[in-house]
Amino acid sequence: MATQTLEANYLIVGSGAVGMIFADQMLTESNARMIIVDRRAMPGGHWNDSYPFVRLHQPSAYYGAGSRALGVNRIDDSGLNKGYYEQASGAEVRAYFEALMRERFLPSGRIQYLPMSEYVGGDQIKSRISGETTGVRVGKIVDTTFFNTEVPATHTRSFGVAEDVALTAPHLLARDVGRHGHYCIVGAGKTAMDVGVWLLQMGADPASIRWIAPRDSWLINREITQPGDDFYASNFGGLALQLEAAAEASSVRDLFARLEQAGQLLRIDRDVAPTMYRGATMSVAEVEVLRQIKDVVRRGRVRAITGSHIELDEATIDAKPNTLYIDCSARALGERAPKPVFDGNVITLQLVRAQLVSISAALIAHVEANYEGDGEKNDLCRPIPPASSDIDWLRTMLADLRAARRWSMDKPLRKWVADHRLSGFGSRGAGHPDAKNINACIRAARPLAEANLARLLSERDASAFQA
Ligand SMILES: Cc1cc2nc3c(=O)[nH]c(=O)nc-3n(C[C@H](O)[C@H](O)[C@H](O)COP(=O)(O)OP(=O)(O)OC[C@H]3O[C@@H](n4cnc5c(N)ncnc54)[C@H](O)[C@@H]3O)c2cc1C
Repeated sequence: MATQTLEANYLIVGSGAVGMIFADQMLTESNARMIIVDRRAMPGGHWNDSYPFVRLHQPSAYYGAGSRALGVNRIDDSGLNKGYYEQASGAEVRAYFEALMRERFLPSGRIQYLPMSEYVGGDQIKSRISGETTGVRVGKIVDTTFFNTEVPATHTRSFGVAEDVALTAPHLLARDVGRHGHYCIVGAGKTAMDVGVWLLQMGADPASIRWIAPRDSWLINREITQPGDDFYASNFGGLALQLEAAAEASSVRDLFARLEQAGQLLRIDRDVAPTMYRGATMSVAEVEVLRQIKDVVRRGRVRAITGSHIELDEATIDAKPNTLYIDCSARALGERAPKPVFDGNVITLQLVRAQLVSISAALIAHVEANYEGDGEKNDLCRPIPPASSDIDWLRTMLADLRAARRWSMDKPLRKWVADHRLSGFGSRGAGHPDAKNINACIRAARPLAEANLARLLSERDASAFQA
């Protein structure tokens, strides 16, 4: 039985990035009182379990909450991100959310934070320490668990490993790395890429690394994600190039060829057609480093590893002796079917701008605070499923274009999006010699891109259906 009952306008389940960003925007734009509950001891969600060499893959400039900057907008002058805006490390992201809670949320007097506590459904929160139950009486529940983020430190491995096999995960790699002659990276996502880059930067011989990558990935070129005035031409000029490619492509294959040719998307092996796109962002320098790994095994996912063999979906191959296997197979964002963001007394936070969790959470809070009725709110906040396959580049671009069109018809919302630090529109190109041209290209290509992407997607769906 509950020993006490807490009251608030909102119960936010999860103090990961998404819950923190929503709460921050609600503090700014409403008088709401909120309870934030999390199983973990500290805000920041999965960043509390991240590997030591993790960094945002986007610039810090448009990650985090709306009320305070993350980092100081420094341009890195060394390393593989040289020349680009800083990307916070995992430790910096954790410190940022902890400070946001301590310096803004709690002093506001409008937020009660219950760490080490689990929302068990209904109106009940249970302490993970005492086991005591607290009742809540709230207007709405904000569910931030939709993404169901998995990281290697906490996920459940889907393949078997014999006892005599040395297996580690990225968060323990620095501890385990020295005693082995070979390394085998298991997984094809951004974490696997980070591990490959880290091993090579730490001095591993490229020939000592094997990479089991079930799928190759299209990568966003970090050059086009930079917010500052200096990057106006690559950022907005890049958008113009993407829209032109989307408007003119005769097929999906032709579209990717154009995007690569225009420097918008990268791939590690130019001889392999990627089938994955998850919005991972890399610099050309990082891609060059990864190209040093030649032993890339593309025979499906790992099913089991023994001292002598690796069993894959499509083959069984010899295992190299004295190998350290590094499990990078956690899938980061889950792949649940989208649901309405606003549904009575439940708000389910999802992406409403492709790939960008921060502005998505802030925008949903803005709409919650300023608009009436689930119908209107859901029309402005249509969920965009996280990208997974190559075709999702088309789906997410189309969804973004449609969302931007809906938002632009609402003048205050258009201004809110354009001005918000998290939207990534850092520069408007004021005074840039190419600004007029670039803006004209974007305006002209937008409707054509929207129409052509819809056509390419329906053709693709039709051929998949026939097959
Ligand atoms: C390595 C990595 C790098 C990334 N880099 C970027 C990037 O550069 N840019 C970007 O936009 N995105 C990035 N992402 C995507 C990332 O998932 C988001 O940035 C974000 O951190 C996800 O936050 P979240 O709040 O959705 O999830 P989580 O961090 O998983 O937080 C959810 C929280 O909810 C709590 N919780 C769940 N259920 C309950 C319950 N019943 N009761 C109480 N608490 C509960 C959990 O304990 C957890 O703390 C990255 C992801 C990974 C894995």
